[in-house]
Amino acid sequence: MISEFDIIREYFTRPTRRSDVALGIGDDAALVRVPAGQELALTTDTLVAGRHFPLDTHAGDIGWKSLAVSLSDLAAMGAVPAWFTLALTLPEPDTGWLRDFSAGLFELADQHGVELVGGDTTRGPLSITIQAHGLLPAGQALRRSGARAGDIVCVTGTLGDAALALVLGAAADAVLLQRLNRPMPRVSAGIVLRDLAHATIDISDGLAADLGHVLRASNMGAVIDVDSIPVSQSFNASAKAADRLRHLLAGGDDYELCVCLPSDAINPAQKQLECLLTPVGQVTAAGGLVLKDAGGRILDQSYPGYDHFAKR
Ligand code: ADP
Ligand code: MG
Repeated sequence: MISEFDIIREYFTRPTRRSDVALGIGDDAALVRVPAGQELALTTDTLVAGRHFPLDTHAGDIGWKSLAVSLSDLAAMGAVPAWFTLALTLPEPDTGWLRDFSAGLFELADQHGVELVGGDTTRGPLSITIQAHGLLPAGQALRRSGARAGDIVCVTGTLGDAALALVLGAAADAVLLQRLNRPMPRVSAGIVLRDLAHATIDISDGLAADLGHVLRASNMGAVIDVDSIPVSQSFNASAKAADRLRHLLAGGDDYELCVCLPSDAINPAQKQLECLLTPVGQVTAAGGLVLKDAGGRILDQSYPGYDHFAKR
């Protein structure tokens, strides 16, 4: 049977590709160089089999998504991804699974020039923890706490696709499945928005919950027009009318950015972004999060995000 050290060497060790990595995998810790005037953004996420992804998810998609969720957090800070570590817990050393997992992981890593510099490999129920490190000019990070009354609330891309793919399963079309299994973290958008936005968060638990975090941190409210939330053609074609708002507001797994910015920054932002940036509402001085439809009617339902410890 393949050993722990064979796994690390065979599937996760590659020649160093960044000149700022002084020492990568193989010692007790990695050594990296942070340029003068820059600070590090650090973020950790765990994906647990059966909870964060269905048990039958392809290993390549698990590898991709494990890194994508962390790069999405860095994007929300406006950071440039640089390095990451991987703590991998496996029930058994399945070489086919490891090959596919590492291929998916490195496919996304290479798109962003981010390097795996260390980790840990253990036996147990399948779970993947990645800590990602990004670089920022000191003091320039986007935070949740900067939203101001009058800011426009915008979202990148389209929402609801991943949540819809999850309920449709094999019946979901290729666009929806791609959105669930291979989310594209909005890294370049975060870097552009760093100079234009007041507050940003990445949408992982649904727009309502994640915008709620921004509003609490900023001590603000907001009014959102739920009918202006951008959706894909696939979403429009496949979502049941009764489930639409739940997918859009509380579906989770979107990995888009929710951005609060002054109205005169929207045009400059849209010109520089490679993705859609759609206004969906406005920040208010008070009042919590108010959801309205296009006719101005207030929705009385709330859309809480996922809580790992909620009583079920
Ligand atoms: P230690 O006993 O000091 O924790 P390990 O034997 O766990 O070291 O790991 C050996 C080396 O391999 C370390 O440099 C560690 O960072 C790296 N490593 C272990 N598992 C992984 C992994 N899944 N991916 C990348 N690097 C790993
Ligand atoms: Mg170890």
